[in-house]
Parts: sequence; structure tokens; C-alpha cells
Amino acid sequence: MPQAVSKRILLLGGVGDALAIARRLGPAHVYSLAGLGKVPQDLACQVRVGGFGGAEGLTDFIRTEGIELLLDITHPYAAQISANAARAAQLAGIACWALRRPGWQAGAGDDWREVAGWDALIQELEPFRKPFFTLGREPLEHLAAIPTGQFWTLRLLDAHPGNARARIIASRGPFSLQDERALFAAESFDVLISKNSGGAATEAKLRVARERGLPVLLLARPELPEVERAFADPESLWQALQELPSGLA
Ligand code: NAP
Repeated sequence: MPQAVSKRILLLGGVGDALAIARRLGPAHVYSLAGLGKVPQDLACQVRVGGFGGAEGLTDFIRTEGIELLLDITHPYAAQISANAARAAQLAGIACWALRRPGWQAGAGDDWREVAGWDALIQELEPFRKPFFTLGREPLEHLAAIPTGQFWTLRLLDAHPGNARARIIASRGPFSLQDERALFAAESFDVLISKNSGGAATEAKLRVARERGLPVLLLARPELPEVERAFADPESLWQALQELPSGLA
């Protein structure tokens, strides 16, 4: 059920937390998606899809549409749009609030290793034979260079044929603990590769890696810009929206 929020909002999304906020916004507000995933058809707020054309394009949009508050609830590794959001809000003279979801933390017995980027990752992977990549599309660019002796499994949103040394699983989270346990058991992965996304939707794989004593290679988080207000969870962001003086639906 949409609820009143007094400033006209542009919500930059693309993750479940953003969709949950978008579901509560009324028709005065705009929810924006890059266009890689599903576009919801059942929202009360306006939905737009596709890039703005950099920070300048986003600034133009904010001005033309009379946007009064920018919400950056994009994925923590979507660093370009977050940088554009902070810059555009500054240029347009409005506030940018962001959800900065904390990363996952290793627990007792976890063997987590942070890698800075693709080259470091490939080096760390040398001793392994059956890596499971949950990084999105980036590994697709490297399928022709899979080292002899390795068989890669990639989990992505969209189907892809793979090759003799790589299998692609097209699947969208959230992933249950039960399903993750079954997948790891069936495929005998010997290492998990992940972004440190944080949140619950894709956390079960880490628990299964722990149960099976598998190392986890985590891609380092990108730097994100400072914004007027940053929230660690969507509920506190929503609460702050409710505390704005009332007016707009
Ligand atoms: P990115 O590198 O930070 O952004 C690339 C470009 O995509 C941006 O410069 C912008 O184009 C456009 N864009 C991104 N998010 C947009 C949005 N919400 N509305 C309109 N345009 C948007 O982002 P990415 O890593 O490719 O991710 C793309 C989208 O997928 C993001 O919305 C993100 O939340 C979501 N996502 C990303 C990941 C991930 O691991 N990176 C995981 C899950 C979901 P213009 O410069 O033309 O405006």
C-alpha cells in the first residue's frame, strides 16, 4: 500500500531492497532501473528503465522532473551509478540519501580471502579445480582463458551456452539454504567466488561453504561516494522518509 512521502523522489534501484521501498511509494515518485533484470509491472509509483547518460543526464532528469530527493539503493558494487547519483544531486542542489548495506563478516572457522580484482582472483584460483563463480557477468569475458585442469560453474541472471570447461546456471535469487546445499553437493565445488554484497538474499552460499570447509574468494568492495545521509538497512531509510514533513502521496 503506497504511503505518503513529502518530497518527490527518484529512487535508483536494481536490488530487492529498492523494490521493497518502491512498493511503498505513490504515483508522484519515480523508480529507475538500468534494465538488466525484471521490470515490475505492479507498482503504484512511476517506473523508468535505462541509463540517464552519465551524471549530467541524471542532473537534467532531476531538474526536468522536479525531483526533490534522490535515493541511491543500487547494488554496493554498482559504483558508477552511485558516483553519478552523488554528483548529480550536488549539481541539481538536492540531497542524495543512500542505502550502504554492510558487507558480510567472516565467522569462526571461515577461510575468506579478499581479492582486489580479476588478475588477483585468477592467481588465487590456481590450486583449485571446480570454482563456483557468483560474480555476475564478468567471468563470461574470460571463458576462453580457463586454465587446463579447471572446470568453472557460473551463476548468472541470464542463460549462456558456456563451453567445454564452463557451465552457466541461469538463476535469480533469493537462494534457499536447502537448494544451495543440494547444488554444492551435486557439483563438488572446491572454492566459492563472490562479491561481498551483504544482505540475506544470497547469503546461504556462504553458510554452505562454511559447512563444507570451502575457501571463499571475495572481490573487494568498490569505494562509494559520501552522501547527505547513509543508512545501513532499508527500514531506517524508510523511517527517515516518513519523518519528512507530510504532503505528497
Ligand atoms: P554501474 O556500473 O554502476 O552503472 C552502469 C550504468 O548503468 C550507469 O552509469 C547508468 O547509466 C546505468 N544504471 C545503473 N543503475 C541504474 C538505475 N538504477 N537506473 C538507471 N540507470 C542505471 O552498475 P552495474 O554494476 O552495471 O549494475 C547495473 C544495475 O544492476 C544497477 O542498478 C544495480 O543496482 C543492479 N545490480 C548490480 C549488481 C552488481 O553486482 N553490480 C548486482 C545486482 C544488481 P548512465 O550513466 O547512462 O545513467
